[in-house]
Amino acid sequence: MPELPEVETTARGIMPHLTGRWIRRLAVHERRLRWPVAANLPRWAKDQQITGVRRRAKYIVVDLERGWLLTHLGMSGSMLILPASTARETHDHYDVILDSGWTLRFNDPRRFGSLHHGTGDVGIHPLLRDLGPEPLDRSFDGDYLHYMTRGKRVAIKLAIMNSHLVVGVGNIYASEALFRAGIRPERTADSLEHVECVALAAAIKSVLGMAIEHGGTTLRDYVGAGGEPGLFRQELFVYERAGEACRQCGAAIKHKVQGQRSTYFCGSCQR
Ligand SMILES: [Zn+2]
Repeated sequence: MPELPEVETTARGIMPHLTGRWIRRLAVHERRLRWPVAANLPRWAKDQQITGVRRRAKYIVVDLERGWLLTHLGMSGSMLILPASTARETHDHYDVILDSGWTLRFNDPRRFGSLHHGTGDVGIHPLLRDLGPEPLDRSFDGDYLHYMTRGKRVAIKLAIMNSHLVVGVGNIYASEALFRAGIRPERTADSLEHVECVALAAAIKSVLGMAIEHGGTTLRDYVGAGGEPGLFRQELFVYERAGEACRQCGAAIKHKVQGQRSTYFCGSCQR
């Protein structure tokens, strides 16, 4: 599943091809995505200029002169920039055909992706309005994390994976950040001291920042998100390393299931 770093990489990859261009035609080949694509979208989008591309959580917002497109890659979606004449393949669900002769093509075998449009502040769209801060924003820090976790009896790993608290911290990044901060995933959120919240917020920023950097270097003219984790395997400390030696202390990495997701941690480095 594309995680925040892959979505950021996709947004950065398509941005230079889209910004400043006009939509010659928006062709929807399959309306049945996670939510049905509005029937009036092609006519609405036609001949609008694209003013920018940005990411919010795991959504990509394409700003237009008179509104916006709100897109999600779902579980298996990817975006490619192709010459508009390129033959379509199975699971290609929509094309944003540009005046440059190129097209932004969306492919998604499982059809959990989405495409919405509208005008005004996209931030108040039902899919976005209840989301917490971006992990890489200044507003997300140790003070915020400490304040928000007081009285919360939920496990800290589940707390940081909840998008109301902070967006985009998927399973891999939650496990890796907790290891780097030296905190056990099953600790209750409100048991964390202020200094631990500072360490954890910093670890989340560092893990995601590193993954975004890799995403940006491994993908060039191919802009896509095929579910590859943004971190290189050799840089993972705990994720999917059950039974292997901890890179810091040599103890065997432990595995448990937490909230129906696999959790990995070191019993001696994390307290
Ligand atoms: Zn260890």
